[in-house]
Amino acid sequence: MKKIIAANWKNNGSKKFVKDYFEYFFKNVDSNNEIIIFPPDLYISQVNDYRRKKNFMLGSQNINYVSDDETFTSGHSSDMFIDNGCSYTLVGHSEVRGHDITYSEAAKSLWASNDLQVIFCVGESADTKKDGNTQNVISKQLEDLCDKRSYPKVIPKKVIVAYEPVWAIGTGNIPKIDDISFIHKFIKTYVSENHPFLKEKDIMVLYGGSVNSINASEILNAQYVDGVLIGGASLDSKEFTKICNLKI
Ligand code: PEP
Repeated sequence: MKKIIAANWKNNGSKKFVKDYFEYFFKNVDSNNEIIIFPPDLYISQVNDYRRKKNFMLGSQNINYVSDDETFTSGHSSDMFIDNGCSYTLVGHSEVRGHDITYSEAAKSLWASNDLQVIFCVGESADTKKDGNTQNVISKQLEDLCDKRSYPKVIPKKVIVAYEPVWAIGTGNIPKIDDISFIHKFIKTYVSENHPFLKEKDIMVLYGGSVNSINASEILNAQYVDGVLIGGASLDSKEFTKICNLKI
């Protein structure tokens, strides 16, 4: 079954990195999965040039919540990302939420266009997990996604949520596979019951947090997992290509 395999390069890259990365990737990729790469903004255009074989999609790691305001210095509009080949954007990654934007502000700018599919990131902290509050926190995070006011311009055709437990990001720790399936099902049910426009069949949930070429197959084969969002391991072209080539 076709899954989403997404690479979040975070704040990494250089022109040489991009060149070397795709040299290996194009020689070795043989995948039926939907591959998405999220480079830093400055390299989106260069990565877009490497899409000549069109065997991957491109995304931006964040959109500025006032990005469509043309008078805003330092903004990037959603049209600019689309113009540079992006068809996805991450919203509310745990490394972004709570810094320069609030989660809710980001959510309000969500669906500027159906040409830029949002991947909406949620996940609990270690303390939340310890206190047994994971489902409460995730429902709260999903409220903006399910708020009709988040869609002033377009009615979305689908929703993609990335479930990324904060304690699993970059730590080498992952939840038990059954726990991943349980939370993914919880997210699908919550969104289908609360979203103003979408049904369960329109909702995909990706898992993110310490995915690598050793654990990816088991995670991707788990119930209710529609794909993975990979940080650290996606920076190694060999490692990422291996995951892309998995036949699920
Ligand atoms: C991420 O930052 O989205 C992520 C999942 O990171 P890592 O794979 O390194 O845990």
